[in-house]
Amino acid sequence: MAALGAHSQTCPISNVRGLATKRAPSRQSPSQSFRLQATHKIAVLPGDGIGPEITKVALQVLEAAGKSHGEQFEVKESLVGGAAIDATGQPLPEETLAACRASDAVLLAAIGGYKWDSLPSASRPEGGLLALRTGLNAFANLRPAVVLPQLADGSSLKREIVEGVDIMIVRELVGGIYFGQPRGFSTNDKGHKTGYNTMVYSEPEVERIAHVAFDAARKRRKRLCSVDKSNVLEVSQLWRQTVTRIGKEYPDIELTHMYVDNAAMQLLRNPKEFDTVVTGNLFGDILSDEASMLTGSLGMLPSASIPSEGPGIFEPVHGSAPDIAGQDLANPMAMVLSAAMMCRYGLSLPQVADDMEAAVTSALDQGFRTGDLMSDGMKQLSCSDMGQVLLKAEQTSGNGFVHALKGLLPNWTPRVRGLVLLNLLVLLVATNWVILRDTEAFFDAFDFAALRFAIAAAAFSPFLSKAIQDRKIVQAGVELGAWSAIGYLTQAQGLLTSDASKASFISTFTVLVVPLLSGLSGKGIRRSTIISGVAALIGVGLLESGGGAKFDYGDLWNFASAVAFGVQVFRTEHHSRRLPEKSSLQLMSVLLFTIAAISIGAAGLKHPSEVAAFAGNPSAFLAGVHPASLPWKQILYTGLLSTDVALWLEVVALQDVSSVEAAIIYTLEPVLGAAFAYLLLGERWGPAGWFGAGLIVLSSLATQIWGTPDSPVAEHKLVDAAQQISQKASESVSSSFASISESMSVDDDQSGPSR
Ligand code: NAD
Repeated sequence: MAALGAHSQTCPISNVRGLATKRAPSRQSPSQSFRLQATHKIAVLPGDGIGPEITKVALQVLEAAGKSHGEQFEVKESLVGGAAIDATGQPLPEETLAACRASDAVLLAAIGGYKWDSLPSASRPEGGLLALRTGLNAFANLRPAVVLPQLADGSSLKREIVEGVDIMIVRELVGGIYFGQPRGFSTNDKGHKTGYNTMVYSEPEVERIAHVAFDAARKRRKRLCSVDKSNVLEVSQLWRQTVTRIGKEYPDIELTHMYVDNAAMQLLRNPKEFDTVVTGNLFGDILSDEASMLTGSLGMLPSASIPSEGPGIFEPVHGSAPDIAGQDLANPMAMVLSAAMMCRYGLSLPQVADDMEAAVTSALDQGFRTGDLMSDGMKQLSCSDMGQVLLKAEQTSGNGFVHALKGLLPNWTPRVRGLVLLNLLVLLVATNWVILRDTEAFFDAFDFAALRFAIAAAAFSPFLSKAIQDRKIVQAGVELGAWSAIGYLTQAQGLLTSDASKASFISTFTVLVVPLLSGLSGKGIRRSTIISGVAALIGVGLLESGGGAKFDYGDLWNFASAVAFGVQVFRTEHHSRRLPEKSSLQLMSVLLFTIAAISIGAAGLKHPSEVAAFAGNPSAFLAGVHPASLPWKQILYTGLLSTDVALWLEVVALQDVSSVEAAIIYTLEPVLGAAFAYLLLGERWGPAGWFGAGLIVLSSLATQIWGTPDSPVAEHKLVDAAQQISQKASESVSSSFASISESMSVDDDQSGPSR
């Protein structure tokens, strides 16, 4: 669960779990970083009608999804609504409220039914719901409206308008005109009876809902639209000023404003333009109902009510459906999606949420429907059978490889798992330069890249057809592919015109490019990162015996390559968090096809005469190419293992590990590369090289172990450690100058790898 301290000085709702924390969802506090397992206390209120049936299914899927991520749930069921009235006479017994308050999150099904309809309104089941929201002080209501392609025809709008809609409406729930004073009836000076209400918001009320909305947007596509009526209402002018001011604390979120009448219109005209919407109580009431009707299916809509402190309430939008209760006919998916929302926004377990949502999508993809969603050609299931399908889909859906991979490392926190994956990746990539160096002796680097990436892309081709159906995946894949291609091709050019040793030296600039980009994008550049990067560069300098040969054009290419890789790492973090985990294989397919296309184009530009020969007479040209002369072993190795596996591990790992941490880990590449050179090519380095290698390993490992971002304590520890290391390094640098110059004469071609 996300630690809460980082935000407490600036945000009045620092204890809103998950939402109010500024840190990334899966980030762990240092003390939690190496915990083996987490237990989350859930208060479960099955309520009435179909409530118990859908709760059973949701808990089964939750448990299974949690298990595959090493998360456990301690469930305590309590009575609410009609069931509680029957047992205790109260719709919300004191012990139920106490159990909810003692939990990390509340999962509520639905309340109400014919049996209690004749009771006086104050003692009806619905009273339990209101008392629960008030008792937990739930001031923010989050209602997603997602139109799944499988159900788009259920909407009253055209498929092309609604397909792909994914909106989150954040509504202020306990203020505004519904609660403002004065209110009542009166008589005006003409003697006419009047009714009046007061629409009022204080600055702190707007601030706290704005924080919730910005944090929600940060976990989505990072766009927030604030809806008001500031052209007419003073209360809206205060709303707009306050949201704008709070927005300055979230420079990574794109904030826009819209008048409510226009918002109501745009929701019908072009709903896909919205990501996250924040608005007051009255406007939110209307807009959230309007948005949920875009989806056309009540049985698919989850919601959350978030308090300022303590657990949030997660529940489907629908009621207890007494007309079908007890008949095993209910659709459990809104309840499963509510449990997923609980994981994402209440418990900061975004990957458990991803898995549960993927299970729902997979069940729909396979054509399974409950009665309320039934259409021609689909298979109708009961509530319990749908539960079994969801359970099976959870275990096998989405990214089976990611599951299998994570199943190998079941009990580690996401961050530790991410760090392990990135270190594995470095191990794979570090062997590359030995291969490239060996291969380039008899094969042009551009032709080699074209073949290598064509093979890498072919391996991922089964995922391409699904990938191109999703615009977000295509955009992300093409962008990442372009940066990677620039990185690889400039590196190839650099290796042609410079030595590998200098290429590896310059490639460590990636370590500085990434934090610099993070800083420019508003995340801030951590002193510890800079110190660690500088320590690593000193290490590389020593490893390379003072920097090697004189400047040449190859250095410029290598420098461009380091910058391109830096941007690629930084943007991969962005896209892999924005896209669900299940799309990582699809993203990789687009990415690799983009690199392959650019590499083949570059090889063609490099050798125009060969292109002309091929265009003029393809069969004669192909007959002249001797496959036996190609270094297939190396091409297959670099294509399938060190490119496919490494880039994919990077996409997966960067969902849990920051790009800055990744950049620090990449400092290990030169050391490992040199180690492979030592073992495979017989290259040797002198005492300064060994010292530099040790310095790189230390700075990288120290950052991986203690460098949990967002933790001031961890940062201070790391700063202290890194300062000591760099101080020692600078002392040693001056005192070992003599030995460096000696070692230069021994063997100064100690190179590191290229990525
Ligand atoms: P409802 O949402 O319970 O049912 C409306 C229609 O949708 C019914 O035909 C029902 O069969 C169907 N339906 C709803 N959820 C379904 C599901 N998961 N699967 C298949 N079909 C589903 O609304 P209602 O009939 O107006 O109210 C029934 C009771 O629920 C009332 O007592 C009401 O007060 C209560 N209610 C509770 C909540 C809540 O607990 N948050 C919300 C709304 C209504």
